[in-house]
Order: sequence, then structure tokens, then C-alpha cells
Amino acid sequence: MDTFEAPADTGVPRGRFGFEHRPVTDQSFENALAKARSGERLDVDDAIELLTTGTDADGIDDARKELVLEAADRRRAEVVGEAVTFVANLNNNVTTACNTGCLFCNFKDTAANFERDSEVEHAGFTKTPAESRAIVRDALDRGIYEVTSVSGLHPAFALDEDHHEALASYDDPASEVNYKPPERYETDPGTYVEQMRAMSVDGAHLHSMTPEEAYHAKRGTDRSYRETYRRLQEAGLDSVPGTAAEILVDEVRDVICPGKIGTDDWLDAMEAAAEAGLPTTATIMYGHVENEAHRALHLDRVRDLQDRTGAITEFVPLSFVHETTPLYERGVVDGGATVHEDELMIAVSRLYLDNVEHIQSSWVKYGDEQGLKMLSCGADDFMGTILSEEITKRAGGGHGEFRSFDEYARMIRAVGRVPVERSTDYEQRRVLDDEGPHGPELGPRADGTPLLHPAERDPAGEPASADD
Ligand code: SF4
Repeated sequence: MDTFEAPADTGVPRGRFGFEHRPVTDQSFENALAKARSGERLDVDDAIELLTTGTDADGIDDARKELVLEAADRRRAEVVGEAVTFVANLNNNVTTACNTGCLFCNFKDTAANFERDSEVEHAGFTKTPAESRAIVRDALDRGIYEVTSVSGLHPAFALDEDHHEALASYDDPASEVNYKPPERYETDPGTYVEQMRAMSVDGAHLHSMTPEEAYHAKRGTDRSYRETYRRLQEAGLDSVPGTAAEILVDEVRDVICPGKIGTDDWLDAMEAAAEAGLPTTATIMYGHVENEAHRALHLDRVRDLQDRTGAITEFVPLSFVHETTPLYERGVVDGGATVHEDELMIAVSRLYLDNVEHIQSSWVKYGDEQGLKMLSCGADDFMGTILSEEITKRAGGGHGEFRSFDEYARMIRAVGRVPVERSTDYEQRRVLDDEGPHGPELGPRADGTPLLHPAERDPAGEPASADD
């Protein structure tokens, strides 16, 4: 079992950015906790009090923290009971080529390295639609239900042929709209529409096109997010991951991802996805330069969005994995969130988001041991099998890889909860109530056969495809 190696409560210096939003309130910890316990709707000041275990003292107070976790665990039991859900899914990221330069990210590879005339050696990849289709077909044979696909913003990526034409018509497309034609690159990623068609093959549930990718798929045109999501939906998109949210406060985004869309754009895109009839998730990526006021404001914006759309199936707190990211290497941050901060983030998400049913514990970010602990801090979903997970591994996290159904069943039962296979939208569920061996049953070709670890499928231990 992996162990989580986050720092103890040594604290990360987060006061040096001169942010306008600071964790200062007129509320007391006791009042905020009383509201949380009674189920009254919390406000931003309440969330700050709970996240800080009281602004009346520095540092985290252990006894108060336990009270917050307890309230969140009780709320979880009331809302969703004892089930811990997970999904049989595959990560198929199409490309690591990206020029956006987010300082918390080490998934990207400078897009210029992928050009035909580049001599730079790099470990990045781009998959053609045919390659994506083959990977998905293989995964479906093994019982996978959901394909999650989040990619770098490759300059040759366009929504469709019309979009290629529109982008090429600019005088200087590379600098004006971050576009270069596919012929310039070693591998053509195809269009977004072609990739959607390739990956939604044979009844797979396709979970893709974050707000940032949707922006890239409409850049340089006056196409709306709604039209863009409709076109992608026609091509096979089933639901939208609410990643690229990071912290939905622009003064933080200006520091960590100045090349990305702003808070309002992110919210517009998510609302448009919901209007197109696509279920969504929402995330927060915390533990870098932001403070508790930013985290609280983020929760507030997500809750408002959910009041408007009702489309968010789950909220996913993602603890910043700092190793090998520019933020860490350039000395902007000294590390990630502490374990206390992680636990409080999960708990306050559960308490604040009274309109979002499921809170996810990401074992890829937290590791197994701490990931399980989060199930008693307000979380009820434990991610998916993720047959491949490049993003966190490339940022230095050691936890991305693969999780079998039997491992899930064993771990979840060990903490006294009920393991439940789910579909992406949580509509279909199956309790794993016998001794096993277990495999997925909800995928279009799932028959209960256990998923195999890639190394088990190939006696030589070689990956069976580029994505393993
Ligand atoms: S987070 Fe996404 S958009 Fe930002 S640099 Fe990484 S791959 Fe590119």
C-alpha cells in the first residue's frame, strides 16, 4: 500500500502574494460549526472559519479540526449513506503538446518539440484518432465503462475542418490564435470532432473536453461555448470534466495559470455544457499560492453554478502535487497542502456544497492510506480504475496507475463501508457483495471478468499499447 508523504503541519508560506482576498472574517468558529451541524446553508465567512479551524488563532487546532471532520462525516452519511462508489474507467489523454505554460503543470511538453523539424528529444506523445479508437476498443473488451480524456492544447487541434480554415485565415495564426497546421507536426491529432467520434465507439461513455479545451476548440471564432459543446456532443461526448478550474478567483489564476481562461469564462463554459444537456463534474486544485479565503470563494462559485444548472454530479478536491512543477522549481511555493488542509478541504466541501451529492477522494493525489481516510472526512466516491494516469505521475506524484476491483472491494470493506461500482452519472450502481473475484459489470462489454494489470496481460511486462 502506498503511503502519503505530504508534509506534516509545517505550513506553506502563502502570505506573500499581496492578494486582496485574505482569510479574515467577522464570524466565529463556534457559530460556523453550529451552522454546519444544523444543516443551515453556509456562507464564505463560515467556510473560512471551518477551513482555518478559526481565524482567532494561527495554525490548525486539532480538536476543532476533528469537530469539522465529524460534522462532514455525519452529513455524508445522511446524504449518501455507507456506499463508496468507483467507476471502471480508462484515461486516454490524446496529446501532451501544449503552449499554455501553467506553472503548476508538468504534464505538458512545449508544442514546438513535436514539430517535424524539431531535434529536441522529449517523452511526450500525440495519438491519432485511429490510435485512440484502438485503445478504447481494447479497454471496452476488458469491461471499461468510461473513457476520460484530457489533453494538452495542441496548436494543430481544431474543432473540425471549418475551424481549421477559420484559424488558418489569420495573418499570423501562431501568435494570434495559437494555431499551426497539422502538417507542421510529426503526428496529426486530428480534429476534436474526430477524436470524439473515435473514443465514443461501441457504447463507451466519453468524459472529455474541459472548459479550457472547449475554449481551444472555439478559439479565434465567435462560436459560443454552447454551440461548441453541442457539436462535440453530436460527435459522441457524453459528459464534461470540470477540471481546469484550479482556483476560481482571478488573482490566483493570474499567478499560477495566466495563459488560461478566467473564472467567468470557466463558469460560462460549464453552464453552456449543462445547457447542452451534458452532466459535469467540478474540481478545485488547492495547496499552492492560494489561501483559505480563495478556497471558500471557489466553493461558493461552484455552489452558485450548481444552483443554476443542477448538472454537477460530483466535486473533486485535487491537492496540488508540487514536485517537478515550475511553481516549486522556481521557488514560488515550498510544497503542497498539509494533511490537515487536505482533510479540511474534503470536509468543508461536503458541508458547503449542499447541492452536490458526491465528494470524491482522489487516491491518485492523496495515496491509498490518506485517500481511505478521506472517506471518513466527508467523501463517498473513490475515483476509478484509471488504466493509465499520466498527468499526476508526470508532476512527480507516485500514485497514478491502476486499481483492480478486488483491491477496491478489500480497501473499502476494511474501513467498514460498502463497495459499489457506478456509472459516470451514478445512475447505475452495483454492490460488490460477495467474496469475488470481482470485475466490472456496467461497461457495454463488461461480464464481471477481473481487469488485469497491464503487466499481467503481457508476460514480458511490456505495455500492450502506447497508453498502458
Ligand atoms: S494544465 Fe493543461 S493547459 Fe495548462 S500547461 Fe498543463 S496541459 Fe497545458
